[in-house]
Amino acid sequence: MKFYSLNNSENQASFKEAVIAGIAPDKGLYFPEKIKALPADFFNQIEILSNHEIAFQAIHQFVKDDIEDEALREIIANVLDFDFPVVEIEENVATLELFHGPTMAFKDVGARFMANCLGHFSKGEKTEVTVLVATSGDTGGAVANGFLGVDGVNVVILYPSGKVSDIQERQLTTLGQNIVAMEVNGVFDDCQRMVKTAFLDTEITDHKKLTSANSINIARWLPQLFYFLFAYKQAKSQGKEIVFSVPSGNFGNICAGMVAQKLGMPVKHFVAATNANKVVPNFLQNGVYEPLPSVATISNAMDVGDPSNFVRIRHLYQDELANLKDNLSSYSFSDDATRETMKTIHQNFGYVADPHGAVGYLGLKEYQKVNPDTYGIFLETAHPVKFLDVVEETLSLSPDIPAQIQKVMNKEKKSIKIDNYEGLKSYLIEG
Ligand SMILES: *Cc1c(COP(=O)(O)O)cnc(C)c1O
Repeated sequence: MKFYSLNNSENQASFKEAVIAGIAPDKGLYFPEKIKALPADFFNQIEILSNHEIAFQAIHQFVKDDIEDEALREIIANVLDFDFPVVEIEENVATLELFHGPTMAFKDVGARFMANCLGHFSKGEKTEVTVLVATSGDTGGAVANGFLGVDGVNVVILYPSGKVSDIQERQLTTLGQNIVAMEVNGVFDDCQRMVKTAFLDTEITDHKKLTSANSINIARWLPQLFYFLFAYKQAKSQGKEIVFSVPSGNFGNICAGMVAQKLGMPVKHFVAATNANKVVPNFLQNGVYEPLPSVATISNAMDVGDPSNFVRIRHLYQDELANLKDNLSSYSFSDDATRETMKTIHQNFGYVADPHGAVGYLGLKEYQKVNPDTYGIFLETAHPVKFLDVVEETLSLSPDIPAQIQKVMNKEKKSIKIDNYEGLKSYLIEG
C-alpha cells in the first residue's frame, strides 16, 4: 500500500517512508491510496474476535508491505494491553472509555503504535531518528511513555512552562533515558512554531533524521480506528443504529473513526463535539473554512484553531459538503455548558466525566434530540484525574489517583529550559 500526499497525489511513499518522514516533502499529509472494506463476516462475527485479532485484520492492509505478520501481531500485543470498555450511562447513551492506558488519555494507543513501528524500522539501522513534538498537555506524556527505551529513537518534547497541569508535567519530565523534556518560556503556539522551524532548518536536518509524533503521522493517526471497532463489538447487540460523538481538537480521532466506517463498520452518523474553538461547526454551517486563533477553555486538549486532520476528512468526502453533512454533524459548547453537564451526569447517573467527555456527551444529546431512536456512544478521551482542578472545582469531589499516575508523582522532574529557537537548535546540533 502506498500513501500519497494530500498536496499532490503523485508524491507517494510506503508506510515505512511515511512514518519516518511524518509529513510529505511538499508539506502535505499522507493518505492511504485505497481503503478496502473488510469482509462482511468480519462484522457479522466481530463479537467472537479478540481485540488483538480485530486490530490485526483492520490495520493489515495499510502496513503489510513493510511489517511482516508476525511482527505486526507482536506490535499489536504490545500496544493493546488494556481495556476499552463501553459503559452505559442512561438509556441509549453509553461512553467508550479510552483512558485505561499508561498515561490515562486516549493518545496512548497511537503513541505506542508509532513508537513500536519506529522501533521496528530502526532495527539494524545506523542512523538514529529524533522524534520532535510540541505538546499542550496529553501528547507529551503519551509520547514519552510510548517511546521510552525504544532503541534507535530519541525523543525531544517541547512544552510551555507553567501551562500544563502538574500531572501532565510529571508524565513527560520524569522518565529520563531517551526522553528529553524542553520547558519553553512561552505558550503552546511558540513550542509548535519552534518544532516547525526545526523541520525546515537544513543545518539540523542535514545530519539528523527528524520526525513528528503528532496525529499528522499516519502511525499515530490510523490505529485510532481500533477504538470504534472495539465499541461496535460491544454495542452491536443493542440492535440499534450507532452514533459516535467524538470530542475533537485536531480531528485525528474522529477521522480514524470514519476510516473504520469505510472498512465496512455500520455507523449511522458521527458527531464532532467541540468547545469554543468552532472552526468545523462554522464550516458545516456556512461552507467556509476559516482558521481562527485558538481560545483557551477547560477542555484544553481541544483548543485548536486550525485542526490539522480536517483536510483528511474533507478528502474522504471528495470535498463535497453535502456528502459530509450526511455523515457528520458538529456542535460547539461553552465552558459553562460543559461544567453544567459534568454536574448533571454526576448527579443523575453517578458518573464522573472529564471536561472533554462532557463535551462529547453534549454533542451526542444534541444529535439525539432529532434522532432519538439511535444508540449513542460518546468517547471519554481522558481520565478525570488528568483534569483534576476542573473536576474538583466543578463536582466538589476528589477522584482517587490511580496507580499509573501515582507512580510519577514522587519522581524528580528534569527539564532543559529554553527561551527561544536558538536553544532548541543548539541542543539538536550539539546534543
Ligand atoms: C488530544 C485530545 C483530544 C482531541 O483529539 P483529536 O484527535 O486531536 O481531535 C480530545 N480529548 C483529549 C483528552 C485529548 O487528549
